[in-house]
Amino acid sequence: MERLIIEFKNVNKKFKKGTKLLLKEALLDILKPAQTEDFYALRNVSFSVSRGESFGIIGPNGSGKSTVLKLIAGVIISTSGSVNVRGNVAPLIELGAGFHPELTGRENIYLNATILGITKKEVDKKYDQIVDFSELKEFIDTPVKHYSSGMYMRLGFSVAIHTSPDILLVDEILAVGDSKFQKKCMRRMNDFKKQGVTVVFITHDMEVIKSFCDRVMVIANGEASFIGSPKKAAELYE
Ligand code: ADP
Ligand code: MG
Repeated sequence: MERLIIEFKNVNKKFKKGTKLLLKEALLDILKPAQTEDFYALRNVSFSVSRGESFGIIGPNGSGKSTVLKLIAGVIISTSGSVNVRGNVAPLIELGAGFHPELTGRENIYLNATILGITKKEVDKKYDQIVDFSELKEFIDTPVKHYSSGMYMRLGFSVAIHTSPDILLVDEILAVGDSKFQKKCMRRMNDFKKQGVTVVFITHDMEVIKSFCDRVMVIANGEASFIGSPKKAAELYE
């Protein structure tokens, strides 16, 4: 088995800039020839993560952190450079991603697990554990459009950790939970770590970065400005 489970080599990700929000800007555009401006969310990003490593990503809002996780999850592809991921991924990258608002918690557990490649039979076996961990038993037959962001997070996290992933991706979402549930999630992530699961983790909580991560990448304006010890990374970022 290869030691490196995630490898980014000179990865660039280009987006088209968003549509104009102001009427004035939109009108001015009519007078000009149509042009779409390119915008680089990631520029020449290279890093690798070893099997079993806990890898943190920190940086200001809009610096490209979530774009890195989406590339690992395979929900978007790079514009250039190479992204290699050798294992199955449980992505917790956006609140409610993979959930259908009109379906109940129970139905979404099945839907979400299926998307992550789990058979119905396996979900049947793990269903009670998933619901127990989420602490949403009372609301499990309620359509999730009535859930709060914290409830979405609970359900998403519970499903993800019950899919036996090689790689767990966690994008800030823990921040919406109450502190008791956050601690429970961190304990579970520590268990994963002990079992050799690779975790890639975005958070603004530098205490968590220092206590949980083995290595950390700092991103600013789409570029990796530092990769190394959590302590040094937190110092650079703060
Ligand atoms: P972070 O997670 O660090 O806050 P993101 O990776 O979400 O940042 O976004 C990086 C930059 O790319 C931001 O400026 C954001 O607006 C832009 N961006 C992200 N996704 C898209 C998209 N689908 N289309 C256009 N721009 C995007
Ligand atoms: Mg983000």
